[in-house]
Amino acid sequence: MPSILALPPLVVNKIAAGEVVERPASVVKELIENAVDSGATRIDVTIEKGGAELVRIVDNGCGIAAEELTLAVTNHATSKIRSAEELFEVHTLGFRGEALASIASVSRLTLRSRQAEGDGAELVVNGGAEEPVVPAGCPVGTTIEVRDLFYNTPVRQKFLRTAQTESGHVTEAFTRVALAHPEVHFTLTHKGRLVHDLPACEEEDLLAWRERIATLFGDDLAGALVQVESEDVREKGEAVRLAGFVAAPTESRSHTKMQYLLVNGRAVRDRSLQHALGEAYRGLLLTGRRPICFLRLSMPPNLVDVNVHPQKLEVRFAEAGPLYSQLLGTLRSKFLSTDLRSGVPNATSDEASPEADTPSELVHWAQRGLAKEAPQRRFDGPAGEPSGGPGGHTDRAPAFKPYATTGEPLSLHRFSRGVSGAGAPPETHRTSDSVSGTEGFPDEEKSPAHVAAGKAIQLHNRYLVVETEAGLEIIDQHALHERVLYEQLRAKVLAGPLERQRLLVPEPVDLSPLEAAAVLEERELLGKIGIEIEPFGGDTVLVSSFPTLLSKRWLQQPLCESWPLN
Ligand code: ADP
Ligand code: MG
Repeated sequence: MPSILALPPLVVNKIAAGEVVERPASVVKELIENAVDSGATRIDVTIEKGGAELVRIVDNGCGIAAEELTLAVTNHATSKIRSAEELFEVHTLGFRGEALASIASVSRLTLRSRQAEGDGAELVVNGGAEEPVVPAGCPVGTTIEVRDLFYNTPVRQKFLRTAQTESGHVTEAFTRVALAHPEVHFTLTHKGRLVHDLPACEEEDLLAWRERIATLFGDDLAGALVQVESEDVREKGEAVRLAGFVAAPTESRSHTKMQYLLVNGRAVRDRSLQHALGEAYRGLLLTGRRPICFLRLSMPPNLVDVNVHPQKLEVRFAEAGPLYSQLLGTLRSKFLSTDLRSGVPNATSDEASPEADTPSELVHWAQRGLAKEAPQRRFDGPAGEPSGGPGGHTDRAPAFKPYATTGEPLSLHRFSRGVSGAGAPPETHRTSDSVSGTEGFPDEEKSPAHVAAGKAIQLHNRYLVVETEAGLEIIDQHALHERVLYEQLRAKVLAGPLERQRLLVPEPVDLSPLEAAAVLEERELLGKIGIEIEPFGGDTVLVSSFPTLLSKRWLQQPLCESWPLN
C-alpha cells in the first residue's frame, strides 16, 4: 500500500467540482446565488451553447476587494460564515466557500470586480491555474465569465447533453432563484436573445410575484393560481410564514418539478412537504397527477439546517411535523372556501360569489371527502374548523355538513354491455373489447372487457363496482377510459403513421423550461404520432398539427386534465 498523502488543492477542488458542478446549470445556480448574496438589485445572466461555451453573470452587488480576488477562488474561503456555530444561523445562500474554487478548476474563469470604495481588478483562472490579478476598469459589482466548462475533464464533458437540454436546465436554475428573490431584477439571455426580463418587485407583494410567475410560466397557469397564506407561531414564539400560490386542479403535471418550495429564499425539494401537498389535493387530481405550487416559507434560520446537501437542493427542518400540518391545513381550508371549477378560482365567501349557492359538483365532492378527514387532523382549530395554525389565516372554511346529511343521493346506475350508464363515457362500452388481456391488466378476468360482461354498478359517477367470480372489483372509470384511449392510440401508432390534422393557425403552448427542452428533443417522435412542434422562443412551442383521433378534444381541453371538471 502506498503511503498516505494530503491531496494538492487542485485535486481537492476537482473532487469538490464533481459534487457541486454537474452541468452548466449548476454553474449558473452557484453564480446567481453569489450575486444575490452580494446584495445585488440587478443580475444579468448570459449563456451560449446551453452554458457549456459561456456563462456570464453580471451583478451590481457589493463587489470583491482586489486583494481578496484570489481568496474568492480558494477552496473553503468564504465571507459568509466565521465559525461552526454560524452554520445553524445561515442568512446567505452560500456558506461553504467551494463553488468558485470548484468551477475555476474545471473551466476558464474570469472574475472582474469592484467595490464602491476601491479600484476594479481582474483575475483569470484556467483549469485551476491562477494568473496574476491585474487592474481593470469596471462598474461597482462583479462580473464572472465561465468559458468552456469541463474543457479539462473530458469525462464530464461527455455527459453534457444537447445545448437545447442544457439551456432548459439553465433556465430552470435561473427560474428557481428568480422565484425565490422577487426583490432582484433578473434577465436571462441565450444566443444573444433576451429570454426573460423580470423587473424587481416588492418582496411582500404577492400579486407582483404572480406577474413574475406569469412571465416565467405563461398566463394560463398564472390565471389558475389560488393564493394561500398562513402563519404558525411555534411554541418558542418562532413564526413560520407560508405565502404563495397553488394551482387549481385544472392545472397539474405528471411530475413534481413544478412544485416550487422556496424556504428562506432557497428553492428546495422536500419529500415531506410534497407529500402534504399531495394529501391536500387528494381526490382532486387523478392518480399520477401532481399539483403545481409556488410557495414561499419563511422561518428563523435556526429552524432549518441547510448544510445537508452538496448543492443545497434539500434542507432539513427542525420541526417537520408542524410544517407538514401547516401546509396541509392551509391548503385544505383554502380549497374548502374556493370554487376550483373554472380554473380562475374565486373564493366563495359567504356573501360574495353568486356561485356560493350552487357550488359545483366538484366542490361538493371535495368538501365531502375533506369533511370526513378534516376533524381528525392536528391542524384543526379549537372550534373544529380547519386552520393553518394559531396565527390563523384570512379565509375561514365555510361550515359544511357531514356527508350523510348533505341530502344528495348517492347516484347508483346499473349498466350492462351496450347500455350506457348515465354519465359513463360512452367510449368505455364501445371500445372495451379491444383492450382485453393487454399489458397492465394481468389476466383476462381483470381486463376492462370483463366490466362490460359482468354485473356492474356505477357509484358517484366515477367508480365501477363489478361482480367477479372471486368477489368484487372496484374500477376507477376514468382511469379505465384513459387506458382504453391509450390502447387505441397505441394500436394506431403501431399500425402506421397517425392521420394528422393541420391547424390553420399554429397554436402557441407555454411550457416550463424543462418541458420545452424535452418536447423539442422528442420532436421527431411526437411528429410520428401526429403532433408537429416548432420552437417559438422562450419556453413556448408552436403546435402546428395534431392527431385527427383527438380532434374532438384537442386544444380546448387537454385530455387528462378535463376531468372531473367537464
Ligand atoms: P460561498 O458563496 O459559499 O461563500 P463561493 O466560492 O461561492 O463560496 O464564493 C467565495 C466568496 O467570494 C464568497 O464568500 C464572497 O465573499 C465572494 N463572492 C463570490 N461571488 C461574489 C459576488 N458576485 N459578489 C461579491 N462577492 C462574491
Ligand atoms: Mg457561493
